[in-house]
Amino acid sequence: MKIIIVGAGIAGLAAAVSLHEAGLTDVSVYERSATIRGLGVGINLLPHAMRELTELGVADAIAALGVAPTTLAYFNRFGQAIWSEPRGVDAGYRWPQLSVHRGRLQLALRDLAEVRLADPVRLGHRLIGITSNADGTETARFATDDGEVTVTADVIIGADGIHSALRALRYPAEGAPSWNGLTVWRGVTRIPAFLDGRTMIMAGDGEQKFVAYPLSDVADDGRMLVNFIAEKRIGGSADADWNRAVDPAPIAELFREWSFDWLDVPAAISAADEILEYPMVDRDALPQWTFGRTTLIGDAAHAMYPNGSNGGSQAILDARMLALHLATADTIDEALSRYEDDRRPAMTTLLAGTRATGPERVMLVAAERAPEGFEDIDDVVPASEREQIAADYKKAAGFLPEMLNERSSLSPVRR
Ligand SMILES: Cc1cc2nc3c(=O)[nH]c(=O)nc-3n(C[C@H](O)[C@H](O)[C@H](O)COP(=O)(O)OP(=O)(O)OC[C@H]3O[C@@H](n4cnc5c(N)ncnc54)[C@H](O)[C@@H]3O)c2cc1C
Repeated sequence: MKIIIVGAGIAGLAAAVSLHEAGLTDVSVYERSATIRGLGVGINLLPHAMRELTELGVADAIAALGVAPTTLAYFNRFGQAIWSEPRGVDAGYRWPQLSVHRGRLQLALRDLAEVRLADPVRLGHRLIGITSNADGTETARFATDDGEVTVTADVIIGADGIHSALRALRYPAEGAPSWNGLTVWRGVTRIPAFLDGRTMIMAGDGEQKFVAYPLSDVADDGRMLVNFIAEKRIGGSADADWNRAVDPAPIAELFREWSFDWLDVPAAISAADEILEYPMVDRDALPQWTFGRTTLIGDAAHAMYPNGSNGGSQAILDARMLALHLATADTIDEALSRYEDDRRPAMTTLLAGTRATGPERVMLVAAERAPEGFEDIDDVVPASEREQIAADYKKAAGFLPEMLNERSSLSPVRR
């Protein structure tokens, strides 16, 4: 079975490694960019993604690039604690959570894919069209510097991100991603360690928020590398370009009153070398991913807000599920239909939950009930309600510890 993957992001490269592990080796990856530069800032891999990377045999290589947070803690805009929960193995999962630089993760997956497939990623190939042939195969058309190239395969997988060309071919009237009016600034900064040096924090409410998590251990000087995401509703542009750099100073100014006794937010933002601005955009859930023998995975299928840190993790799950079905179903059509049945309804539910701010709803509820802060959080949002919000999201995203620890493997050889 000849398979083409369009896009060498997290989803496409995870699919290449997964297909190979499932015994499907005639796989080629086509990427629009002329080089893979390993762009972006931090990304979180939740235990459900780390399980898949472990079963692919690549978790150690990836874990060496990042840091496993022990705790996720939520605060209001005054730095008062609302909710905190253990993460990864401390929360009872058999697999850790990992905070990692997206670019380093992408380069590591690229290296692993190229070693396993013995075929380099074909760079400088931008998908521009697809034709279904009478024999059931599909022909992809790519624009390159040397003109158009056509390639025919049994299956074409669209892993080409939030601006997916394959998705646009199937849904030509869809237009740009939808924007909720929040602007997000992402950066990496080197600051004094906060809390236990392994905690991911979120502070704020629905109008303004600051998220930070370590990307390194604490160094001898007491500092660590921290990824942050600052967001605020300030107007601006809905143009979703991952690489738009802006000056940190005015962003730090927006957070000037957010100096907590455990973290100095404006100082953290000011210390960043570079800040990337991005609108909080996502895509509506689709009624169908598979057309003929083409389908969608990752952000091409279900781009979602970063609330819940699930975009990269769900992309890896798509890749694994698709590889399993392609390797085990009797026909390609049945495999693609099983993949879509397993993943699309789940992602429709998760998209809706993420739009409703996912697990961060606890911060919104606290801000609504106590906009000026509180003496005791238990008087504002009872512990049982806080617990329920956290559990509801994990259930929707498929990573309650007992669900994940007990479900069968997605590796054909292990089943
Ligand atoms: C440059 C960049 C930086 C990012 N930074 C962050 C970050 O800091 N934090 C975070 O949480 N998420 C970030 N993301 C998004 C994150 O990678 C995804 O949300 C998630 O990992 C799902 O990955 P994906 O492979 O589906 O999409 P992506 O990672 O977006 O990968 C899609 C790939 O497809 C390629 N492509 C697009 N169109 C075509 C085409 N027509 N033909 C061929 N190839 C095509 C793109 O160049 C890209 O390599 C970033 C994405 C990009 C592209």
